[in-house]
Amino acid sequence: MQADMSSPYGHIDNGLLAVKQGKIAWLGHQQDAPKFNTTQTIDGQGGWLTPGLIDCHTHLVYGGNRAEEFEWHCQGQSYQQIAQQGGGILSTVAATRNATEAELLSSAQARLQKLLTEGVTTVEIKSGYGLDLETELRLLRVAKNLQTKLPVTIKTTFLGAHALPPEYQGQANQYIDYVCQQVLPVVAQQKLADAVDVFCETIGFNISQTKKVFTAAQRLGLNVKGHVEQLSYMGGAWLVADFHGLSVDHLEYLPEQDLAYLKQQKTVAVLLPAAFYFLQEKQKPPITAMRKIGLLMAVATDLNPGSAPMASLLLAMNQSCILFGLTPAEALTGVTRNAARALGISRDKGQLQVGYDADMVLWPIDHPAELSYGVNLVSPQQIWVRGRCTKQPI
Ligand SMILES: [Zn+2]
Repeated sequence: MQADMSSPYGHIDNGLLAVKQGKIAWLGHQQDAPKFNTTQTIDGQGGWLTPGLIDCHTHLVYGGNRAEEFEWHCQGQSYQQIAQQGGGILSTVAATRNATEAELLSSAQARLQKLLTEGVTTVEIKSGYGLDLETELRLLRVAKNLQTKLPVTIKTTFLGAHALPPEYQGQANQYIDYVCQQVLPVVAQQKLADAVDVFCETIGFNISQTKKVFTAAQRLGLNVKGHVEQLSYMGGAWLVADFHGLSVDHLEYLPEQDLAYLKQQKTVAVLLPAAFYFLQEKQKPPITAMRKIGLLMAVATDLNPGSAPMASLLLAMNQSCILFGLTPAEALTGVTRNAARALGISRDKGQLQVGYDADMVLWPIDHPAELSYGVNLVSPQQIWVRGRCTKQPI
């Protein structure tokens, strides 16, 4: 392959790509291509072919929504006041516990469909709105089931340590014991999760509680990742790296001195600009220092009913450039190659390479910066998942 390495995109002009049995079998310049015995040839008509996009951090299975609380917030109530009236994460927990598996599946499917329309072919989905054994299992089953309903690869993450459920108020340590001893082993035994996540934060769980969950996860052979340093500096990113975690997510309060350790441990920094936008945060992740040290940066939607009600990975790319200062090339790498690393699937997905899954999107654009540049200006011309066309040109 003769990619143009002078471009940050490493692209091939006038390229040709061959697919066999769902995998990329050959790619390079058209004039170098061998003779193929093909059943179908598609002309890209001068568009750009990219890897299928990967949304590596979502919470898209949940009951209800929080539009009414948004109404209150816009009328001047603080998040604290709303939480005191039973709003916030616990209102989603109540709505989720009350929802049937079929109801959860149908609302999640509609949200997922919106992501897929934009060329997303792999999505990570976390549990964390059940906070009891039965509901957490239900959320993970629904998440996995979505890939039988729509053309997408789903990776699931157990986030039992997301918030303290009402029945454990004032008993965070007991709840963590419950998660580690009674929930996590069942999740692992039923093979419902690919990784384990913790919300390590002053309003979530502290470092020693987070460490307990990670230790239990590792004992069960599960990878870890963390919601860390979003609203304050807790040292959660360092702890994730200690466990050779896949990713550290949010990172607004990450100090620069922790970056070298994250890089050394090959932990990916997942940036979630939608939450920063919706919460109107001021503190930004240390992007310039991350870039300088060469830390891998991914970008995701964080799709959830509270801090990021947004089903658009293209908009997250735009926000990562506008709000955090990424380049469009970094944003695209962040939703392809680096997002695959954040999910531990970088040998199969996230790149156009021989042997990789033929998850691909054909865009009717002149330059890949167009994917980050505007809002709702471009959409895929064609999409393939493992070589199968899931969106035909109009
Ligand atoms: Zn999240």
